[in-house]
Amino acid sequence: MRADLHTHSACSDGTDSPAELVRAAREAALDVLALTDHDTTLGWDEAAECAGPQGIELIRAVEVSTQVRGMSVHLLGYLFDPTHAELMQELDHARRSRQTRARKMVELLGQDLDIGYDDVLAVTRPGTTVGRPHIADALIGNGLVASREEAFAKYLHPGGPYYLTHYAPQAAHLVELVAAAGGSTVLAHPFAGWRGRTEADQDVADLADAGLFGLEAYHRDHRREDVRRALEVANRLGLAVTGSSDYHGSGKPNRLGENLTDQAVVRAIQERSSGVPVTGS
Ligand code: AMP
Ligand code: FE
Ligand code: FE
Ligand code: ZN
Repeated sequence: MRADLHTHSACSDGTDSPAELVRAAREAALDVLALTDHDTTLGWDEAAECAGPQGIELIRAVEVSTQVRGMSVHLLGYLFDPTHAELMQELDHARRSRQTRARKMVELLGQDLDIGYDDVLAVTRPGTTVGRPHIADALIGNGLVASREEAFAKYLHPGGPYYLTHYAPQAAHLVELVAAAGGSTVLAHPFAGWRGRTEADQDVADLADAGLFGLEAYHRDHRREDVRRALEVANRLGLAVTGSSDYHGSGKPNRLGENLTDQAVVRAIQERSSGVPVTGS
């Protein structure tokens, strides 16, 4: 089985529509695809409709930006009930806060550069979870940078003069909420240290106590020693291990299927999660 459990569509900061993503999954010879847009379930229905005809098992999911001790922590939430009121409120809150933050960041950028929020709206699908990649796309559109990479390096990185944070729930709370909604959580790229501060082993242990299911060990942002550490921590805490691409279409070099998750782990996620069925295939 070829299963990729972490991908983004244009409902967040990927560039493929959900239907295009499912078709790309088939072209990449995947059997199982999880759609994990940032803080939204907006793409679920379109992807689910396309999955069956393409012979893809679709795992409906999200990637939630959370925090631990002020550190940004990404949690993948799988197969939860998308009508769970408290969980949906958290995601709504995050998306609204992201919009305010994006407007403010663009206002700051606009003091030095030729850019306005209309330029961001022009490169964003209605309803999309707005993130820095969309501001990057607007900068590209205005000829100010050549790539998202350059936009992050020059203007959008944390600590830079234009960077602002947005609302993010506490990670342990999010783990509990996803579980209450019948789903399972996996910590995304936990030890991608070159990005900045990462979780301590104790933070992961606390999340395991809250009900975390697994760690995404195989991810291109993990160096060999990061993978080794993730495997060791997972083994010590009795957590499952996943691997995935974190595909963003043409927004990042990550290719579908470049890391995969074992069939037994995929089946375990499906069996322990009751919020929504797997669709397609
Ligand atoms: P945000 O959620 O608005 O804080 O933006 C973070 C998102 O930007 C991540 O989910 C990545 O997909 C993307 N990202 C982060 N760094 C880069 C980079 N150097 N080049 C392209 N995309 C990036
Ligand atoms: Fe992203
Ligand atoms: Fe992430
Ligand atoms: Zn991601």
